[in-house]
Amino acid sequence: MRVTEGGGVHRVVIVGAGFGGLFAAKFLRRAPVQATLVDRTNHHVFQPLLYHVATGILSSGEIAPATRDVLHRHANVEVQLGEVTGFDLDARQVMVTRPGGREVKLPYDSLIVAAGVGGSYFGHDEFEQWAPGMKTLSDALAQRGRIFGAFELAELEEDPEARKALLTFAVVGGGPTGVEIAGQIAELSRRALKGNFRNFDPKSVRVVLFDGGKEILANFGDKLSGKATSELEQTGVEIHTESIVTSVDADGVEVKGPDGEITRYAARTTIWAAGVQASPLAKLLAEASGAETDRAGRIKVLPDCSLPGHPEIFAVGDMMNLNDLPGVAEVAMQTGIHAARIIKKRVESGADSTPFKYRDLGSMAAVSRRRAIVSFHGLRVSGWLGWIMWMFVHLAFMTGFKNRFTAGLHWMMAFGGRGRPQRAIVGDEIGDA
Ligand SMILES: Cc1cc2nc3c(=O)[nH]c(=O)nc-3n(C[C@H](O)[C@H](O)[C@H](O)COP(=O)(O)OP(=O)(O)OC[C@H]3O[C@@H](n4cnc5c(N)ncnc54)[C@H](O)[C@@H]3O)c2cc1C
Repeated sequence: MRVTEGGGVHRVVIVGAGFGGLFAAKFLRRAPVQATLVDRTNHHVFQPLLYHVATGILSSGEIAPATRDVLHRHANVEVQLGEVTGFDLDARQVMVTRPGGREVKLPYDSLIVAAGVGGSYFGHDEFEQWAPGMKTLSDALAQRGRIFGAFELAELEEDPEARKALLTFAVVGGGPTGVEIAGQIAELSRRALKGNFRNFDPKSVRVVLFDGGKEILANFGDKLSGKATSELEQTGVEIHTESIVTSVDADGVEVKGPDGEITRYAARTTIWAAGVQASPLAKLLAEASGAETDRAGRIKVLPDCSLPGHPEIFAVGDMMNLNDLPGVAEVAMQTGIHAARIIKKRVESGADSTPFKYRDLGSMAAVSRRRAIVSFHGLRVSGWLGWIMWMFVHLAFMTGFKNRFTAGLHWMMAFGGRGRPQRAIVGDEIGDA
C-alpha cells in the first residue's frame, strides 16, 4: 500500500452503504488505500425493490444483503456500524456515534459522503405519522405490516363503511415509487389474495393514487405516461391528477382537486411517495465548506463531485446536486465510482481530478404484473417487452448471485402465478379493528 506524506497508509472514510458508498468502496479494492465504510445499518438496500418487500413478493434479505458480506473479499475495506453525526473538516475527522452511544472520531485523508435522502412532506411533517414513506428496509417491512394488517382487520370488521375504509389504500405521489406500489397493491388484491378471506372479496379493494401534476410519471413523457395510466387503470388503480393532498389523518386524506374543491377519502392506509429531502449531513457539509444547498437540501458540488475548498471531500449520490442530475441509482453508482477513481489516481500518481460525466442508461418503471415502461435515449418501450427489460436490468443490478436466483424464482411465482410468500407481519403496525 502507498503511504501518505505523514507516513501512514492513505485513509478513506466512506459514509453510507447505499449505491454511492458501496460502489465507491468496491472500486477501491485494488487501490493503495485503507477504507472504512460507516453506515447506520448493517446492510445495503436495493431501494428500487423495496415495494416488492412491502407487498410480499421478496424477502428482506433478497434486497438487503449484509454490507460486510458484499465486501468480504475487499481486504482493504473495513465496515463499521455507526451513525455519522458531524464532521471536523480542519482536523479531517468524522464524528460517529456507535451502537450503545459511544462517540468516536474517524480520521481521514479522503472522505466520500453518500448519505442519500429521506422523504419530504413539504412542510407538513405531521403527515408522516399517518402516511409513512418507503426509503429504508424497516419502512418497507412496516408498510408490509400496514398493508397485510389492513386486510386482516377488514376480515374482522362488521361495519361495512369501516371495512371499506380498511380496504381503501391511498398512495400520494405519481412518480415511479407511487405508481409501482399502487400497481402492486391492486395486483395483490385482485389476484394473489383471491380466496383468502371469508367476509369480503379482496377484489373490492380500492387503490387511489394522487398526483399534483397533470400526469403520472411525467418524466417519461406524454406517450409513456399515457400508456402507464391506462395499464394502471386496467389493473384497478384509480388515478387522480392535479390533486394535492392537503391533510392526512388516521382515517383518510383530504385532497384539493383540479377544480379547487376539497374531497375527503376514507382510507385507513396512506402511503407517501412524494418528494425528497437530502440527509442532514448535506447541510452540515455545506455549512462547514461554504457550499450551497438546493431546495431539497442537496449540496451543490463542484464538477468533480468535490466540495469547494476541499478537494479531499466528495459528496455523491442522491444527497448532492450536480447540474440537476436525477436522484437515481445510476447517478449514485457512477458518482461514487468517480470519486473513488479520483482518490485512487491521486494516491497512485498524484493525478488531477476530472469532471464527472454522466452516462444516462435511461429510466424504467414497472406498472403492474408483466407491464413496464422504459425510456432509453429516444427509445420508448412499454407493456410486456418493457417488463422483460425491467426484469433483466433489476436482476443485473441486484447484489449477489443467490439473491438474483431467488428473486428470479419469486418473480416467477408472483408474476407467473399468484404467489406472495413473504406475508408475515412481525411488527406492531396492525391497528385496532
Ligand atoms: C422506493 C424507491 C424506489 C426507487 N426506484 C428507483 C428505480 O427504479 N430506479 C432508480 O434508478 N432509482 C430508484 N430509486 C432511487 C435510488 O434508489 C437512489 O437514487 C439511490 O439509492 C441513491 O443512492 P445513495 O447511495 O445516494 O443513497 P442511499 O441508497 O439512500 O444510501 C444512503 C446510505 O446512507 C446511510 N446513512 C444515511 N445517513 C447516515 C448517517 N448519518 N450515518 C450513517 N449512515 C447513514 C443509509 O443507512 C444508507 O445506507 C428509488 C428509491 C426509492 C426510495
